Amino acid sequence: MIIAIDGTTASGKGTIATRLAGYFGLPHMDTGRLYRAVAVSALKHGVSLDAAGPLSDLARTLDLNDFIEHELRSAEAGRAASVVAAIPSVRQALFELQRAFATRAGGALLDGRDIGTVIAPDADVKLWVDADVRERGARRWKELVSQGATFTLDEVIQQLKTRDARDQGRSDAPAQMASDAILIDTTDLTIDAAVEKAVAAVEAALARGKTA
Ligand code: C5P
Repeated sequence: MIIAIDGTTASGKGTIATRLAGYFGLPHMDTGRLYRAVAVSALKHGVSLDAAGPLSDLARTLDLNDFIEHELRSAEAGRAASVVAAIPSVRQALFELQRAFATRAGGALLDGRDIGTVIAPDADVKLWVDADVRERGARRWKELVSQGATFTLDEVIQQLKTRDARDQGRSDAPAQMASDAILIDTTDLTIDAAVEKAVAAVEAALARGKTA
């Protein structure tokens, strides 16, 4: 079984993915980490974020063990990741790794922006996780402030809007809901309620698939 989870930034997608993978006993790949790792690597080595050739080389030779988690999770890594993710040759360099994970015997769960549309269009279940941008901004702002950042709430909302626009507006694999994906809107849901809804959606989709 392949489960594809895509959605907007700070929608709760990552937490839902981790919890669903545990619930269904599936290995999980957070594909955003790949783009974040390429970006962090570029920033470390002084590679320009629009240098397609060198960035693709970094993507092809990526070793995720080389990175410290908090470096990958920083706001700057997220912003830079969405810049390098718009480059087709970078996406191409990361394709096989993701596709191989998706097609493992025993199944897999992947989360990202293009899993249901490009990496695993054949997924058994596809979810698209979203929430109102003000709610996503408030969640992200609390998280950043607890880490010592000094952004205002409005700045964080603006950053999310810029990132959404870049991810959804790029020509190669734009972030978009697959036509056969199920929408999970987390705006008014606690994380536990969102996970419950996602589990129910996956179980219903699997039951439908068995009887189809
Ligand atoms: O999900 P996360 O915030 O870690 O992703 C960082 C960036 O990586 C996203 O804003 C997006 O530009 C890019 N990404 C992507 N395709 C994926 C996963 C992430 O383009 N499958």
